[in-house]
Amino acid sequence: MAPSAIVETTSYANNPILTPTEPSTAISKTPILESASPSLLHRSLFEQPQTVSSASGSYLTLHDGRQILDGCGGAAVACIGHGNEEVMAATMAQMRKVSYVHTLSYTVDAAEELAHLLLHNPSSTNAHDFEKVYFVSSGSEANDAAMKLSRQFFFEQGQSQRKYFVARRQAYHGNTIGAMSVSSFVARKIPYEDMLLPYVSFVSPAYAYQYAQASESEAQYCARLIAELEAEFLRLGPENVISFIAEPVVGATSGCVASPRGYFPAVRKLCDKYGILLHLDEIMCGMGRTGTYFAFEQEEVVPDVVVVGKGLGGGYAPIAAVVISRKIVDGLRSGSSVFNHGHTYQAHPVACATALAVQRIVSRERLVQRCAKMGQLLERLLRETFGESKYVGDIRGRGLFWALEFVKDKATKSPLPKAIGFGLGVQQAAFDLGVALYPGGGTVDGVNGDHVLIAPPYIVSEADLTTIVRVLKEAYDLKAKSLE
Ligand code: PLP
Repeated sequence: MAPSAIVETTSYANNPILTPTEPSTAISKTPILESASPSLLHRSLFEQPQTVSSASGSYLTLHDGRQILDGCGGAAVACIGHGNEEVMAATMAQMRKVSYVHTLSYTVDAAEELAHLLLHNPSSTNAHDFEKVYFVSSGSEANDAAMKLSRQFFFEQGQSQRKYFVARRQAYHGNTIGAMSVSSFVARKIPYEDMLLPYVSFVSPAYAYQYAQASESEAQYCARLIAELEAEFLRLGPENVISFIAEPVVGATSGCVASPRGYFPAVRKLCDKYGILLHLDEIMCGMGRTGTYFAFEQEEVVPDVVVVGKGLGGGYAPIAAVVISRKIVDGLRSGSSVFNHGHTYQAHPVACATALAVQRIVSRERLVQRCAKMGQLLERLLRETFGESKYVGDIRGRGLFWALEFVKDKATKSPLPKAIGFGLGVQQAAFDLGVALYPGGGTVDGVNGDHVLIAPPYIVSEADLTTIVRVLKEAYDLKAKSLE
């Protein structure tokens, strides 16, 4: 079948996530399978992906020699920057020592030391009661594992009637069937709706900019959300609910949305009231990205299970982790004593050693603290530069995790027409000007509205931060002019 038929026959043909977009000047629209470059066989049917030939610090070098300042760390992944020799040496050393063993019978020092660092990190300010760590290869797997672990916890206590996961709309937890089932990334779910997990329910996002009423105080908005959550628990029967799943700072879907003050402590109280587990997803916002080691440290709560990913390996290894509380571990300990789950490559020795090297650098160089400090500069620059911009409705974030939400009308906060693909256009224009940013769609209702995400490595210099914001403004002005 010709590649064009694959997309055009679907009902999501206008979705910017799934369909080809207007190419930037540097990108050819020739379908790869029909192109004269048969060597480009990876992933994309339509767009010629940029080939990156080397990367160092905060910069990528493309095949054609152009330098791109990495203003988003991929998808908020790169934290110590690219091309770190110390990490490479640790990776090689582990390969020489033990490249692979199966965790059914073995562990390695690197996995144990990395787990120890996650459980007892000197940068972590919160007292918590985590006891074990489970390493997997991606954020989606981590969420699936945490969901299964939570279900097994109740199953072994004779509460097998607990089947429901409650999650928030406009959140993203991954692309595997389990993680996608609790996600509301509408574009990614469309073809699979009728094959997702049946026992999932959704409540409103905690997203004041779009959904708090003008007459409401922050406390009133928060109380409304908590009342809705409790009503949903009661509707399902709280004794049937396994966990409530949420990102402390929502990343890919809405763009760096933190919940109103008091929200998470009230959620924690509600979960405790009904014996429901609190599962926090810090795949994107964790590992220092928001300026604290765990993002939940800024919320005055401790979850029963938290998943971390991207920044854990910093892009040097595909690794994510499920960090598990003593309560859940005790539950299993008094039951079967094994987590009924597993992957061939879980706790892969080389991935663990690589992530350990990344995390040792983060600790030694005090990069979480640096992230918080550089975040203050980024916030100031963004507010000074975009405070008066016509189509920038909201500027929000924490640490080095910031987004601009684009709107048609600041007074009504209504989204720009989806067909314009404004955020994507800003991202592409910025790329052509030498800065990589991360675009996002579905900001307003999971479908409409867009934003651009800024998430540079924690080692980014002040000069580079200034460049990122200057180029972002140039790119924004270009797109804004095209709307006049
Ligand atoms: N959870 C969140 C909050 C994410 O942002 C992502 C990815 O963007 C995932 C889970 C899925 O992680 P992965 O792409 O590694 O499977």
